[in-house]
Amino acid sequence: MVDLGIGQREGMAIYVHVPFCPSKCGYCDFNSYAVGQLASGEGIVDRTVRAIIAEIRGSRLAGVPAKTIFFGGGTPTYVSAEQLDELLRAVVETHPPVEGCEITSEANPGTVDASKFASMRASGFNRISLGAQSFLDSDLLRLDRVHRAGDIERAVDSARSAGIENLNLDLMFALPDQSVRAWNQNLARALALAPEHLSLYCLTIEQNTAFYKKQLRNELNLPDDESQRKMYEDCVSVCADHGYGLYEISNFAKAGRECQHNLCYWRGENYAGYGPGAVGCVPVEVDGQWERMRTTNLKHPERYCDAVERGAVVYFEHEILTDEVQEMERIMLGLRLTEGLTVESPNLGKLVDCGWLEECEFGVESRYRLTPEGRHFCSEVALELIP
Ligand code: SF4
Repeated sequence: MVDLGIGQREGMAIYVHVPFCPSKCGYCDFNSYAVGQLASGEGIVDRTVRAIIAEIRGSRLAGVPAKTIFFGGGTPTYVSAEQLDELLRAVVETHPPVEGCEITSEANPGTVDASKFASMRASGFNRISLGAQSFLDSDLLRLDRVHRAGDIERAVDSARSAGIENLNLDLMFALPDQSVRAWNQNLARALALAPEHLSLYCLTIEQNTAFYKKQLRNELNLPDDESQRKMYEDCVSVCADHGYGLYEISNFAKAGRECQHNLCYWRGENYAGYGPGAVGCVPVEVDGQWERMRTTNLKHPERYCDAVERGAVVYFEHEILTDEVQEMERIMLGLRLTEGLTVESPNLGKLVDCGWLEECEFGVESRYRLTPEGRHFCSEVALELIP
C-alpha cells in the first residue's frame, strides 16, 4: 500500500460514478449521458463498467480502507445487479471497508425493482438514495424524469422488503408552476414513507441545460423569491415536527442517520473518485511534503474507457490545493453544517450582530454556525469570512 501519510488509518470516502441514464432530465448538469443518444450505443455500458473496475483495481490508493462508499451518477441502477455487484466487489477488495461502513447507491425509482434491490443488499449496499424529486406526475413529466409517483412508493416498498434500513429520498422544491401548498403536499407524501433521511434541494437552473434555454425564452414559471423562502422554511419546520434534524442546509435525518459519505465532503476530508468525471481529493507527496490534490477524471465515457484501456492517466484536470483554497472551501462547506465551524475573522461580530451567525458548541470546541435567517445568506456570509 502506498504510504499516504494522512488519511490512511481511518480510511477515506470512496465515490464511484456511473454516468448512464435512460434519458437526460431537463434541469440536469451532472456528468450523465442518455445511453440511447451515445454514438456507441448500449455497448458502452459494459465497456465502462469494465474500465471502472480496472481503474479501481489499479488504484495507487489500494489498501486504504473505505470509510464510506457511495455509488452516484448518472443512475447507478441503470447497470445490472451483476454489474453493481462486480463494481462493489472491486471497491471492497481494493479498499477494505471499516466496521459499519455506510455503502450507498443512488437509485432512480424507474430503474429498480424488488429483485434488483435484493441483489444489491446481498452485494453489501446498506443505504439507498432514491431520486424521487416530486410526487406529482405533472412535475415529473415537466422535469423529464422517467419515473412516475407510483414508482417511488413501489421502490420504497421494494427497498424495505430487501432489508434496506437506511433510505434517503431526494426531493426538489421551487419547481416550475409549484405552489407552496403543492410543495407541502409533496413533503407530506415523502414523510408518509418514513425514510431515514431527506435531501431537499431548491431547483437551480444551470447553464447548458434544457431548462436554462427555456428560462431564456421565458418558458419557466418559477416560484418567486418569497415563495421559495417559505418552501425552505416549511422544510425546516415540517421536518423538525417529524423528528428529522437539519444537519446540513439541505439535508435532514433521523438521529444517527446523517449521510456519513456527504459529511466527509462537507468536513473537507479526503476522498477517492472512480469512473468517468469522478472527482477525487487525496494526499500526494510533493518535494517531501504532503499536499492535497484534487483530480477530475475524463468525463465522456468513451474517452475515459480509451484512457483506462491504454493504461494512461484518467484524469484531465488536477490541482494542488493551496492553504488559501483549502481554507476557502472549509468555510464555504463548513457553513452549511449545523455543527458549525471554527473560524477567525474581523467580520464575525458584524455577522453575529446582524443575526446571520451565532456561536455554538461542538464537543469541546466553540464554533460559529448560521442562524435560521443566516441560512438564506450562506454565500454572503462565506464571502465575509473568507480571508
Ligand atoms: S436521472 Fe439524475 S443524473 Fe440522470 S439525467 Fe436525470 S437528474 Fe441527471
